[in-house]
Amino acid sequence: MVRAAASRVAGNSSNSGRRFLAGLALVAVFSGVAGCAPAPVAEDRRAAGGEAAAGRQPTAAVDIGLDNLNAVLWVQTAVEYRANSRQAYALAARVLDEALADRGWTAFLGQTGRYEDLPPAIILDIDETVLDNSYYEARLVLDNAVYSSDTWDTWVLQEAATAIPGAAELIDLAAGMGVAVFFVTNRREHLEDATRTNLGALGIALDESTDTVLMRGENPEWESSDKTPRWATVAATHRILMMFGDSMGDFTAAAEGTVAERRAFAEAHRDYWGSKWITLANPTYGSFIGAVLDDDFSLSVEQQNERKRQALDPKR
Ligand SMILES: [Mg+2]
Repeated sequence: MVRAAASRVAGNSSNSGRRFLAGLALVAVFSGVAGCAPAPVAEDRRAAGGEAAAGRQPTAAVDIGLDNLNAVLWVQTAVEYRANSRQAYALAARVLDEALADRGWTAFLGQTGRYEDLPPAIILDIDETVLDNSYYEARLVLDNAVYSSDTWDTWVLQEAATAIPGAAELIDLAAGMGVAVFFVTNRREHLEDATRTNLGALGIALDESTDTVLMRGENPEWESSDKTPRWATVAATHRILMMFGDSMGDFTAAAEGTVAERRAFAEAHRDYWGSKWITLANPTYGSFIGAVLDDDFSLSVEQQNERKRQALDPKR
């Protein structure tokens, strides 16, 4: 998400729903091609209502902040979370050689034409893939607040995000192998300087000879949270070996949809996971929430929680 989130966010109102957008005849679903991409991927934002609910006052009946307590606690304190991230990147490192050697290999569903001899690249999402923004989530929990672009921007401009375990090492390894490293993030373009500074402070070197940090809205064609046009830009000059992300929208424009639709797509591409696509765990926000809510973030927090409860399966 802008973090993806942020960007992500961006999505909320626009997020408002694959179905709604589809109703507007904006798009077709389940294709990796820009021409028939689904509605803009609701970035990951978000959980308790995103911007739409940002102005809501917490009520005694619904503690908004506590909604994410276990998830943020897990990310910030569980060794299991850190181990999970490290194993994802360690697996990626093992695959990189094979991906590099096989010139027919591409991780981007929309990579077409004669790409076999193009220089290799990997594409990484930034938020919750390379940069850890759980501190911002912790603020929301402690402040009993929901995401807003204002508080998100304040956090990003602080340039205090830390590295997701294993990310910097993988990026170093790839660069050392001559693989170009691109970042495609739904953080908005006005956050690019802070994002670059934050990455640099963590030892993540950026190629200064070309723009490798592709922000949402950096040019008119990149206004959508759907990352396909930005992936296509990279794919025009590079063979994409691997893609990294914490949300399905970091791999395909088909990330929106119902829980069943998303699951069907992920299963149909089961061979990609762990080879071409490496996903990082993020229980704190993401497109999985929009899937349960039909991307209707105009719902009240109470209504959203009810939808989530209805989505649970107790098998009884
Ligand atoms: Mg992300």
